[in-house]
Amino acid sequence: MDKKRMIGNLEYHEARSMLQRIVLYELYKSGGRNFCNKCGKEIRCWQQLSLDHVIPWRNKGKEEGLRLLKDIENIKPAHKQCNINEKVGVSGYRGVGLNGKKWQARLGHDNEKHYLGNWDTKDQAAMKRDLYAYKTYDGDVILNFKHLDSFYRKEINNNWEFLNDSEKVKELVCNQV
Ligand SMILES: [Zn+2]
Repeated sequence: MDKKRMIGNLEYHEARSMLQRIVLYELYKSGGRNFCNKCGKEIRCWQQLSLDHVIPWRNKGKEEGLRLLKDIENIKPAHKQCNINEKVGVSGYRGVGLNGKKWQARLGHDNEKHYLGNWDTKDQAAMKRDLYAYKTYDGDVILNFKHLDSFYRKEINNNWEFLNDSEKVKELVCNQV
């Protein structure tokens, strides 16, 4: 198994993302440019910042540390929740793709993808993506199952074990309007 590179208690890519966002946030703020490229509203702290790549990485493959600075003209500040990068593909759901015979749930933001497991049904995968996104963005997110908003709110700090039961998930998807 690969040993994960850790910096403090953060994985390497998390530490890198945090450093980039703190530095860029201060730069944007000092230039009065800490406004979201998507919604136009103020970005109030670095934790809200994500980077909207106008053209996807123009300098892909270059040394990691310098890549960002070489690409700086191409990057606009955006709120994390405004910059979710998801396609609705074969599944018809946000953040759900086919992986072999299973449905893979994922949430893409900050030009990184968070993988949320493989599921037997696409409903399960779509609900996992919803719950994870809902928790990450404190409910400020486009959902696959909009009618479950208050259910998600109620479940947000529970363990989501019901996701393993495809029949239960089906019931939730179909029976609540
Ligand atoms: Zn925004």
